[in-house]
Amino acid sequence: MRFPSFPTVIRTLYTLGNSTARRLFPAAGPAPPPRLASATLPLRAGPSIPFLGALFGSSARKTDMEYPVKKSNEEWRAVLSPEQFRVLRTAGTEAPFSGEYDKHMPSGGTYNCAGCSAPLYTASQKFKSGCGWPAFFDTVPGAVVRHEDSTFGMVRTEIVCANCGGHLGHVFKGEGYPTPTDERHCVNSVSLKFAPEDKKGEDGAKESKA
Ligand SMILES: [Zn+2]
Repeated sequence: MRFPSFPTVIRTLYTLGNSTARRLFPAAGPAPPPRLASATLPLRAGPSIPFLGALFGSSARKTDMEYPVKKSNEEWRAVLSPEQFRVLRTAGTEAPFSGEYDKHMPSGGTYNCAGCSAPLYTASQKFKSGCGWPAFFDTVPGAVVRHEDSTFGMVRTEIVCANCGGHLGHVFKGEGYPTPTDERHCVNSVSLKFAPEDKKGEDGAKESKA
């Protein structure tokens, strides 16, 4: 494992119970590895939709007005599982090494948003990071929006679905992974729904064009 101490910390948080942990540490995990502290370069907003990053602070999630797919919390609860709602709509985090797609390495296909089915990442953009969550080095163009997240005593870059604003996780840069971008999109499995190649983006068309 690449960073042995961090999952231990997170597991400890989880033993407090999710609600307690969230109250104490509203942005607990996925967190950067320790050495990121020496490289807290403020990441710029994603190149695809730069103005969104400028408009929104870390509280952007609470004002979902700018996303094409708009639903009330009640509407989201009706279509999401409780765990999906907690992660996607309240910026929760699944326990490390627990997610359905952590070790999922298909040869093709797409990882779509579990909230609105928009295609977010392709199988060829996934890599093994050992961090305990699915890791991607790039996204479907324009599919993911970045926000600076300064909660939890550190500056991180939150990533959300550009279509519905659903919380995906965080993105880290300059960690030294041998990928084309040297970025790690650390995404909760519960925020994703894998679609095999032949179904690529299919059910995304219905809801995302609302
Ligand atoms: Zn979405």
